[in-house]
Formats: sequence, structure tokens, C-alpha cells
Amino acid sequence: MNQNINSVPFARPFIGEDEEAAVLNVLRSGWLTTGKQAIAFEKDMASYINCSHAIAVNSATSGLHLALKALGIQPGDKVLTSVWTFTATAEVIRYLDADPVFVDIEPNGFNLAIDEVKTKLNEHDIKTIIPVHIGGVTCDMEQLTDLKARHAFTILEDAAHSFPCHNEKGQYAGNRGDIGVYSFYANKTITTGEGGMVITNHDDIAEKIKLYRLHGINKDAFNRYTDTKANWEYDVTVPGYKYNLTDIAAALGRVQLQKAETFRQQRQSIANQYNSVFDQYDFLTCPPNGEGNSWHLYAIKLNLSKLNINRNDFINKLKEAGVGTSVHYKPLHMMTYYRNKYGLKDTDFPRATKAFEEIISLPIFHGMDEEEVNYVINSVLSIGKSHYKG
Ligand SMILES: *Cc1c(COP(=O)(O)O)cnc(C)c1O
Repeated sequence: MNQNINSVPFARPFIGEDEEAAVLNVLRSGWLTTGKQAIAFEKDMASYINCSHAIAVNSATSGLHLALKALGIQPGDKVLTSVWTFTATAEVIRYLDADPVFVDIEPNGFNLAIDEVKTKLNEHDIKTIIPVHIGGVTCDMEQLTDLKARHAFTILEDAAHSFPCHNEKGQYAGNRGDIGVYSFYANKTITTGEGGMVITNHDDIAEKIKLYRLHGINKDAFNRYTDTKANWEYDVTVPGYKYNLTDIAAALGRVQLQKAETFRQQRQSIANQYNSVFDQYDFLTCPPNGEGNSWHLYAIKLNLSKLNINRNDFINKLKEAGVGTSVHYKPLHMMTYYRNKYGLKDTDFPRATKAFEEIISLPIFHGMDEEEVNYVINSVLSIGKSHYKG
């Protein structure tokens, strides 16, 4: 094997000539913003995952905001989620002046702990639960759905990591609760640069989301400008937002969508290669697997009792070796805003607090070649071995 490389980035979008051609077509078409491509992208997505409504938005954050709005979240309402997530999941709760109720993660995974959810449901009047399918491992939707039958809450899936994760029954993560939201941010499993998609099977919710997505205007700009009859007139029925997806982005997304399963399979095979080597070493733990995992992330946990190096220094050594890494996540109870606003303590979230000291997300992306995978493996092993204390 030729060892020519001396670095591997944390992520690299995979954009082919067909994506380039699709975007160029839009640029030359005379219509750049939300139009035929965005509508077609929504149709493609709805049929891909078999849901009634797919609504394209300019980010998953916008989509989560619209979703909570459509679920009727009011100031002072309580929305439950995990501390182990990106701030977007919780900040949208604050957009509506509602309050997050945080839970800790599972003992051996990074998703919200169901026993903690049960405790909080008894302590608070929870209106909505936002499970986050961390890294592409689907939360226990069966248990959440059971709980939903006994308590009056709605489920909004933060499926930003999850496309196109599905179980053997063909149920897609994101299509298992009342609403689901995918992200097409640059490093997500498929990308439109920036973008997102809201999924729901509720007609009334879909109506509200579409209305709020574009200024609360009662017909969308596309119809307004392309209807054959003179049709300048529109009404505004609510103070909406500017959350629509451009046709430029949608055209890119449509091509990426066709490749999503191929991307997922390559990520799976990279994860398999990592697992097969890393499983032999006790100074680290491989990430949990999940059915139909999209493998957005591959996060190892260092076993610090076996090492004389901490997580930050391990990351620095990887950086010196040219390996891009990240940390998913510094949990939200450690972020100044949430910590101060809600008086959160490390001891309230012992599992997340401990896991945060141990985790490193390694490169995993479509288009990563054998040499790059081996380079990451060798770099991790050589640092681990030279700091091994047994
Ligand atoms: C990326 C991400 C988001 C936000 O997605 P954007 O499309 O960038 O707004 C939300 N939640 C999680 C868990 C994410 O990783």
C-alpha cells in the first residue's frame, strides 16, 4: 500500500459532476429561489421515506422552530430533550419562550435515557419530547411511543444525523413521531450546503409549517409569480418567517438523495473497518451500533483508566498527525447559557459529564478511501499504544 498521505480531514462533502450539472441548470434557468426544484425535492423525499408531507426549509434549525410552533408550544411550556445534542435542538425551545427540561444519556450510548424520561414525565407537564438520534443511532421510538399513549405529549424527532437511517420494517428515523427534521448542512449525510426537511403525516401540522415558512403568506411565492392568470394578490394571516429553501440548494439535494443509500453503505463499511480493529484494544470503546445506522458520526470513548493521556491531548496528538476530529458533544449543561439560565449542575447529568471527558469523533464520510481509513486507524493505535499504562 502506498503511504502517501499525511492528513485526513474530519469531513469532506461528496459532490459529483451530476450535482454540478443540476446546480448549473438552475443558475441558467432564470429561477433561483423556491420553485420547481424545491417542490420536486419535497416530492422525492416524501416518496423516498413514504410520508405524507415533506417540507423543505433553509436549515434543520428553522425546521425544528417551525415544528414546535406548529405543535402549539407556548411561552412557559416544557419541552424535554437530552443534554447530549447541538444547541440548535434546545435553542428553538427558547425561541418560543418555552423551557427545556433536560435528561441524561443512556449508560452505554449517547441517546436520551428512557428511565430519565419517565422520571421527568412524572415531575413536569411535558408538552413535547425531542429525541435526538445521535450519530445515526435511532432512539428507542417504541418505548417513547408507548409512553406517549399514557401521557399527553407530542414527539418531534431531531433527525439531523439520521438520513437515510431506517429499520428492517422500512421505517425511517424522522418518520416515527409526529414530526421529524433532517439537516442538509455541509457535513451531514447528504447536503445542500445549508438546508433541511420537515417530515410529518399530520395534514394540519403540514399546513401550519408551510404557512409560517414563508412570511405567513397564504400562497407561496412560486404560485404567485408563475400562475398563468394575473395573480399579484396575497394575504398575510400570521407573522411568519423566511425559512424557505432555494431551488439552487434543492437541485443539489435531489441528486444527493439518489446517492443517500450508497453513502450510508460506505459509511457502514468504514465503521465496520474501524470496529474490527478497535475492538481488539481495551484503551477505547467503539460507538454503539443501531439498526440501519446512518453513521453520521463515529465517536470512540477513551478508557482513561488504561491511558496516561487525557482526551484533549489525545486530540492534539491526532491533530499533529494530521487527523481531523471533533467532539460530539460538549453537553448543554456545560454551556454557559443553559447552565446559568436553568441552574444545571454536572452531578445532575453524571453519564454525559463523564462521557464528555472520553469522546472523540473520528473522520467518517463518503469518499474516504482505504488509505485514509488506515491512516486514521494507525494514528489512533500509535497514540493509544504509546500512552498505554495497562
Ligand atoms: C446539525 C444539527 C442541527 C442543525 O442543523 P442545521 O441544518 O445546521 O440547522 C440540529 N440538531 C443536531 C443534532 C445537529 O447535529
